[in-house]
Amino acid sequence: MKNFGFDLPTEIEFGIGVYKDLPKELEDGKRVLIVSDPGLKKVGLLDKIKNVVIDNGYEVDVYTEITPNPDEKMVSDLTSYINENGSEQIVVLGGGSSIDAAKVASCMAVNDGSLEDYQWNNRSFENCSLPLFVFPTTAGTGSEVTGVAVITSRNTKKGVVDKYIFPDKAIVDPELMKSLPPYLTAITGMDALTHAIEAYLGLGANVFTDSLAERAIKLIADYLPRAYANGGDEEARYNMAVASTLAGIAMDQAGLGIVHSLASPVCANLHLSHGLANSFLLPYGMEFNIIARKAKMSNIAELMGVKVADLSKEETAYLAVRKVEELQRELELKDKIVEETNVKPDLDKYAENAANMFLINNNPRKASIDDCRNIFKNIFYSEK
Ligand code: NAD
Repeated sequence: MKNFGFDLPTEIEFGIGVYKDLPKELEDGKRVLIVSDPGLKKVGLLDKIKNVVIDNGYEVDVYTEITPNPDEKMVSDLTSYINENGSEQIVVLGGGSSIDAAKVASCMAVNDGSLEDYQWNNRSFENCSLPLFVFPTTAGTGSEVTGVAVITSRNTKKGVVDKYIFPDKAIVDPELMKSLPPYLTAITGMDALTHAIEAYLGLGANVFTDSLAERAIKLIADYLPRAYANGGDEEARYNMAVASTLAGIAMDQAGLGIVHSLASPVCANLHLSHGLANSFLLPYGMEFNIIARKAKMSNIAELMGVKVADLSKEETAYLAVRKVEELQRELELKDKIVEETNVKPDLDKYAENAANMFLINNNPRKASIDDCRNIFKNIFYSEK
């Protein structure tokens, strides 16, 4: 029964084939820059979008220098490119990495100062970004609908948060996700599940975000294995695209928690993809939070298909964790996780970094440095 606000400035267009409607959205006569990555050029998606724009008479430049986990230099190179080429509106085609780099660069191109001011020193952008149209190609980050862009800096991942970081339009077309290979489908899908679960359990949750998160959790449990098994399964891709966008909205409004906080040092030091790190940290974070959220954890189990009749909330809460582990096994992530966690990191450094993340303040159970240290010890120093 708490009071809350809900603010989603990004317009959403959703559906199979809606990418063809892009010209209706573009501002007449303004030079277009398409931002993407080499992988999307290789699978032919970049040409698909480029042709739609060219066929409608726009002048187009293409920038494909984005790589996973974008850093300050990548943002600064893209900003210079925008300014030197006189780009007037930006189209992004890609996963969270391209989207985040473009979200920040399209603000930096029209504002003074350094990225450090906005990322670390709480400065707000004075001018709104260049018009930004986003085509997500993974069903994972939800970045197309969030007011944050995650950029690696000072050996950690940190969000640039600002009202002007929201894209103007998210054009979510499941057709653009069919070429995502199985492994990337699995880890980006687990990323979306992490967003939904953290938003659902966190202190910032409200009745609106709970509705979005619950639907996202159910859709992911039902359709991620199908999208993994057959990337061309249109119904599975459609529902995963719905789920990741819902989860993105939920996390943007409700916040995240311990899983994303623990993921920060893991991604930055081990150079792991965001989705894989979240995937293997999720069960640990959920188990840590059971004591604070038994009823909601029990709901998660039910949403993921666990038969809960005759069991106590406590028992079903633990079954939610087991169900997520089962999903990891089904998606063949278990061996990959063991391989990646076969390192012996500096536990104190990792724990301090995680416990200092502002996201951890939204976690339903208070998490100290020692708590984070214990979880990391469990992951990296126990028998597998
Ligand atoms: P990504 O953008 O890093 O892309 C990973 C790989 O997938 C790339 O090699 C790319 O070429 C390939 N790929 C993407 N779509 C494809 C397709 N349809 N077909 C074939 N290959 C394709 O992956 P991601 O997981 O979407 O993004 C991760 C980034 O997003 C991280 O930096 C993370 O921190 C950030 N993130 C941001 C937010 C936010 O709200 N801003 C939320 C969560 C994560």
